[in-house]
Amino acid sequence: MIIDPLGRRFKNLRVSLTAACNYACTYCVPDGKKLQPLNAELSASELDLAVRLVVEAAGIDKLRITGGEPLISTKFDGLLATLNQLDLNDIAVTTNGQFLAKKMAVIRDSKLSRINVSLDTLDATEFRKIARSGDLQSVLTGIELALKENLKVKVNTVPLRRANLDQLVPILGYCLDRGIELRYIELMNMGHLKRNQEYQLEFVGMSEILDLISEKYEFRKLDSAYDSTSVRFEIPNRGTFGIIANESVPFCRTCSRLRLSSNGLLFGCLSNTKNYDIRPLLKKSQEIAHVELQSLLRQAMSDKQRLAFTGETTVMKFIGG
Ligand code: SAM
Repeated sequence: MIIDPLGRRFKNLRVSLTAACNYACTYCVPDGKKLQPLNAELSASELDLAVRLVVEAAGIDKLRITGGEPLISTKFDGLLATLNQLDLNDIAVTTNGQFLAKKMAVIRDSKLSRINVSLDTLDATEFRKIARSGDLQSVLTGIELALKENLKVKVNTVPLRRANLDQLVPILGYCLDRGIELRYIELMNMGHLKRNQEYQLEFVGMSEILDLISEKYEFRKLDSAYDSTSVRFEIPNRGTFGIIANESVPFCRTCSRLRLSSNGLLFGCLSNTKNYDIRPLLKKSQEIAHVELQSLLRQAMSDKQRLAFTGETTVMKFIGG
């Protein structure tokens, strides 16, 4: 197992099934960009092998399936079947929720127990403006179905000054009413945002989010797990919410995340373009692949920021959000 001088080790693997997405969220995808998969994405059998190798070589115990949009990938069902056989403590998916209803049967038969659904507004018109596709009602129906199946649901909301500031408290109310933990994700300075003024114009930080919430709810801060990315709060007798405060309270010093992109590249850090192609290892014996992976993992670990996310031109949907 690789442990760096700050005591960090890889425990969480995020696997991007495809870079393709049925949305084109304004803050994720530059204007007019086609929602295509990456060139040469791993086939289902390559992905299966890659995940098995990385889970074992890195000592992963938590795995999150993401993308692009994982539920539109033909590899989703097969990967769930593979994950059923691995010794993992926690299997989760991050999805825009548009196709949750369609995928509920296969999810029900899997070991997947947690779903994060991205939802930036409860206003159907604004929804189409942010996601530039999809429809709000399908997401809300998907969330209700997941709750009925007793899956643990979290909602991810990215606060955007010009698009959903008025929605931050209503979404919290929606989540509290359903026993869902809301996670506000501070906008990250990635991809096209890094190249223009948009990031500064849209960013809303933790203190402002808390000020808005305090107008309606009283809350207190909770202790978080050592390598947790979120600062969590409790609203007494109502529920909890969290803020993934990349900018306000950076969590790089305890980061345990590793990413596998849909074309077989390992990324040790969201704030670093460096990556390591593991496709050549898929043709080698398991023993040799395991040894060679150790050296790639060591390099990926050294790519982690020491203190804070500094932004990167990489696009979240390409490396797996
Ligand atoms: N398609 C899935 C979804 O919508 O949840 C999974 C992929 S998406 C890239 C994962 C998460 O990343 C979403 O919750 C999205 O809001 C978030 N995201 C994308 N770009 C971001 C950025 N620049 N800053 C913060 N969050 C971002």
